[in-house]
Amino acid sequence: MRTPLIAGNWKMNNTIPEAVVLAQDICNNFERDWASEVDVLVCPPALDIKPVKTVFEFDRVKVQVGAQNVYWEESGAFTGELSCGMLASAGCSAVIVGHSERRNLFGETNEDVNRKAKAVLAARMTPIVCVGESLFVREAGEAVEYVCSQVEAALAGIDEVEARSCVIAYEPVWAIGTGRTATPEQAEEICAAIRGVLARRYGSDTAEAVRILYGGSVNIGNIELLMAQPDIDGGLVGGASLDARGFLSLVRACV
Ligand code: PEP
Repeated sequence: MRTPLIAGNWKMNNTIPEAVVLAQDICNNFERDWASEVDVLVCPPALDIKPVKTVFEFDRVKVQVGAQNVYWEESGAFTGELSCGMLASAGCSAVIVGHSERRNLFGETNEDVNRKAKAVLAARMTPIVCVGESLFVREAGEAVEYVCSQVEAALAGIDEVEARSCVIAYEPVWAIGTGRTATPEQAEEICAAIRGVLARRYGSDTAEAVRILYGGSVNIGNIELLMAQPDIDGGLVGGASLDARGFLSLVRACV
């Protein structure tokens, strides 16, 4: 059985003091027996990673910390970028790659996402590979094909053992930050197709081992129906992860 994963993407929110308060709020409301049933991860802005990690370690709360982006090179003249080694040394165990905001606002290509995913794996962290179609693609009836091709591209050159360390997040672009969630059936259709891609590439054992998340306006009103779908193993949560109690109510729903 796959352990559910609830991952919070704080995006470009929270100064260091604000991030520390939010992390402390998470600690104060986290029930320790959840840790055996659900994995919890928060992805703060890069500057907040170390302080947030320190709060969780001090309180011995089993919440992992991840990053929202990374550059694939190890070091050098790449002004403004951060390497996997830097993120790992700050306490990250996972990195979101290919979020639609990175693809659409910052021009990340499928090839970039693939290089990032490989670099994250090489650094022994978990890449959370985001895929998802625009409304235009969905209305053209091409969502399954489009998302599957994004998954294929992201996994190019990644072997079966490495694939088991990946998480795939299906995030329809039209559902991110819009309050418009995919129906459980729409989300399941795509997540099942993603698992099909994994099965064709790596075999059914590996496909069954990889966690696939849904992201896009996840909230307390829709998490249970989403989690009831056979191929949805958790959520990548944006807006609703900025409030500790709201975020943890999503964690509780997975227990
Ligand atoms: C996200 O940023 O990955 C996301 C899913 O955002 P929201 O939950 O706010 O739609």
